[in-house]
Amino acid sequence: MELRQLFENIFLFEDYVNVYVIKDGTKAILIDFGSGKILDHLSEVGVEKIDYIFHTHYHRDQCFEDNIALERGIKIAAPRRERKLFTEAEEFWKKKSYYDIYSLKPTYFVSTYNIPLDRTFKDKESFEWGPYKFKIIETRGHTARSVSYLLEHETGVLAFTGDLIHSGGKIVNYYDLEYSYTDDGGDMGMGFLLNSFEELLKYNPTVLLPSHGEIIEEPINDIEILKEKFKRVRKAFRHDKIIHSDMSNAMDIVEQLEKNEDKSIFPHIIRKGFGTTFILLGNNQNCILIDFPGDGKFFSYNYEQISAILKEKGVKSIDFVIPTHYHDDHIGGIPLLQQEYNIPVYALENLVDVMENPTHYRIGCLIDTPIKVDRVLKDGETFTWDDYKFQIFHFPGQTEYHMGLFTEIDEKSVFFVGDSMQPYLLNVPETNNNCINFCQLGDNVGSVKCADILLKCKPDYLASSHMGFFKVNEQMLQNYKDHVSKYKSLIEDLVAQDDPNMGFDPNWISFKPIRIISKPGNTFETNIVIRNYLDKESTVEIELNLPEKWESDYKQGSFNLEPKTFTEFPITIKIPETEDPNGRTIITANIKWNGNDIGPFPDLMIDHGFVPSDSWTAWTPNKGVDLLQWIINYYMRDLQFFV
Ligand SMILES: [Zn+2]
Ligand SMILES: [Zn+2]
Ligand SMILES: [Zn+2]
Repeated sequence: MELRQLFENIFLFEDYVNVYVIKDGTKAILIDFGSGKILDHLSEVGVEKIDYIFHTHYHRDQCFEDNIALERGIKIAAPRRERKLFTEAEEFWKKKSYYDIYSLKPTYFVSTYNIPLDRTFKDKESFEWGPYKFKIIETRGHTARSVSYLLEHETGVLAFTGDLIHSGGKIVNYYDLEYSYTDDGGDMGMGFLLNSFEELLKYNPTVLLPSHGEIIEEPINDIEILKEKFKRVRKAFRHDKIIHSDMSNAMDIVEQLEKNEDKSIFPHIIRKGFGTTFILLGNNQNCILIDFPGDGKFFSYNYEQISAILKEKGVKSIDFVIPTHYHDDHIGGIPLLQQEYNIPVYALENLVDVMENPTHYRIGCLIDTPIKVDRVLKDGETFTWDDYKFQIFHFPGQTEYHMGLFTEIDEKSVFFVGDSMQPYLLNVPETNNNCINFCQLGDNVGSVKCADILLKCKPDYLASSHMGFFKVNEQMLQNYKDHVSKYKSLIEDLVAQDDPNMGFDPNWISFKPIRIISKPGNTFETNIVIRNYLDKESTVEIELNLPEKWESDYKQGSFNLEPKTFTEFPITIKIPETEDPNGRTIITANIKWNGNDIGPFPDLMIDHGFVPSDSWTAWTPNKGVDLLQWIINYYMRDLQFFV
């Protein structure tokens, strides 16, 4: 790869990110740095000294080999409000938890080591260098505080825009637009991008020079195309009505839901407010629980409250508890039931691994206490309890690891949809996709699969974990299917990836386990999991980035992956004896996907003695803080990296 001249004194080097060179005599400024391989090519264009590297945003592919630049004394600059994600990257990794994930910014695509900065730029700042003048503007969206560098050049204003927009009216991926778990997948990010486009266009840029993709010669045109796509996506994903505007307080919603509920429809069910527990009463002084967060305030009942209710009803036993899915607001209290009260846990087979091995995953709202499943149920299996007959399904809407339960209660057929649908507006059903939860797009997967199952079962009622019962008919279910069937093509249109799932699933290449708890001198095993969403055979090259003295049996290589398969590559790694006995290390791997270098994409956390603070670990009902408060604390903790 060689330097390509774009304009007088402006060059492009295609690394896993685009690295741009702005030249003045024998000196240069670089926009982003990637693998640092550009250093071997600068002499081709007569550059002897780099005065600065300007980073557009904190993502790891922009700055992964900045250590090489630091060794050579090259000064580094970055957005002021993302500075901590460079200078305090190691602190970030110690503070950003893998449990109860609700805030998704910053993401985990952060440097693995601290990068000292010589300079930071705030919004609207100017910078003069030789004959050049830069204007720096904040263009958030892809990350929370990305900037663009606008350069006055004889050909016009050149805008180095990072990952604000990819060429062709596309974006690099959709999942980076998901800011918080509750913002309805991407809406907030799209809003930020739209504002950023507006701000950017005020400066009349003649071309945009993005971090990924070809340079954009018609900025207004490409931005307009993208805006149209956002409109369609926003409409389809129904980002507008989760919380009624007249209910500003979370507890008001609970009370409102209470009032709405008609308790006479299902005398055998007890539930309240924002859920998620359904107590299903049997006819023999017994009951079962569907979900149990163990929170006594915002999310239904704690154990004492349930005990009191059951005593009043003359119920003597909880025969088992069955989770709809693994989220903290559905299973947080199950370890307590199991350990203190010996209540058996039933679960769909696809939930077993994530419940028993939470350190293997980095997905939304995990708990950190492994739950041993006592009875594993297969997809489609029927079983009976008391006078009830149940059929259980893999029901992957809000997350891949999710169950649906079909039964008859009080002479009405009911399908428990968990969080996979939020059917509060039944004529325009809302799904509840969260990119970080592994929600697949396509036929026979994700929400489309859920819709097909419902159309087959034709229930009288849906039971939503948080919203209670909704009466449905076949037309509503068909509308729902038509609606969710559009998702794949909408995202396909939007992301610059070979398959839309690669721009929707941030974990399509990831380590599993993703967190290791060990000590110096020990050897551990992990895997790299690759989800080949493509219809064709693909090749992947994986190169582990091991710190000095760390050893692995893994040999760098190129592998073929069958179409539409998920493959695991086992890796054994030895932690050196001399490693810090109180430390935490983050390891990455460089990935080449079908010949394209995508850089240090997956990361693995190894605690060789480091013990995270209590706030890093998951919420449990024993800690005396309710789950809602815990979630708020999580947000506040993350925000500190953008101050
Ligand atoms: Zn990026
Ligand atoms: Zn939930
Ligand atoms: Zn959920």
